[in-house]
Amino acid sequence: MVILGSSFSIYGSNYAYRCSVCGSVSNGARKNEDLERGKFEVLCARCGGESAIQPVDESTAPSPLEIYGASKYMQELCFRGFEHCPVHILRFSSVYGKRLRLYDGEATIIAKLAGWIRNGRRPRLLEDGRQIRDWVYVGDIVATILKLVETQPPAVLINVCSGKPTRLGEACRHIARAMGTQCEPEIIGGYRTGDMRHCLGDCTSLRKLIGRIPITLDEGAELAFAETSAASFSAAS
Ligand SMILES: [Zn+2]
Repeated sequence: MVILGSSFSIYGSNYAYRCSVCGSVSNGARKNEDLERGKFEVLCARCGGESAIQPVDESTAPSPLEIYGASKYMQELCFRGFEHCPVHILRFSSVYGKRLRLYDGEATIIAKLAGWIRNGRRPRLLEDGRQIRDWVYVGDIVATILKLVETQPPAVLINVCSGKPTRLGEACRHIARAMGTQCEPEIIGGYRTGDMRHCLGDCTSLRKLIGRIPITLDEGAELAFAETSAASFSAAS
C-alpha cells in the first residue's frame, strides 16, 4: 500500500462560512478595510453578517493558496490512475507532539506558542486571539497508519484532524497548564494580509477508521508538553 501524507493546506480558499443572519455561505475572504476596523470575523458576502466556519470535509474541492498546499495537491494528483496497490491519502491538519522544535521558530504556530511559554514569554496574538485552529496529536496520525496497515482497507481519503475547534488563546492556556504554569496571551490586535481567520476539519471519517474520537488539544497538550515543563523547571531551579 501507499500512504501519502497530504495536508489541509490544499483546501486553501474553499473553506466555507455560514452567515448567522441570512444563512448564506461565503468563502473565507476578508477585506483589509474590515480588518483595519477590528472586524476580524468573516463577513457574509450578501448581508455583512458574521459568519461561522463550517468543518471542511473530504468532498471539498482543493484550492490551495500557496506553494506548500499546491505541492501537496500535486502529490495527490500524481497517484491518479495508480492501480498497483491501494493509495491512502491522509490530509493532516496542524500536527503537534513531543518532538516539535520549540527553539528555532519551526513554521507552525503551536511550536511558537509553546516555545514562548516555555521561555516565560507571553505569546503575542494578532487580531483578537480568537482564531480557531484544529490541532491533531501525532499519536492519532500513528493510530491511523497502524489501522490502515492492520486492516488493509480499500483506498481511503481522509482528513486527519481532531474536529475540535480550539481558539489560539485557549491553546496558550492548555499548553501552559501542561507545562505547569499559567499564561494569559497578550492580544496585540493587527492582522496579516492573507491569514486565514479559522481552520476546522470534519473528523467523521477518521473517527470511523480509528473507532474513537480523536484526541483534542485539551488532552493532547499534556501528552506533548508535560515533559517540557519538567525539563525547564529543573533547569531553572
Ligand atoms: Zn448574511
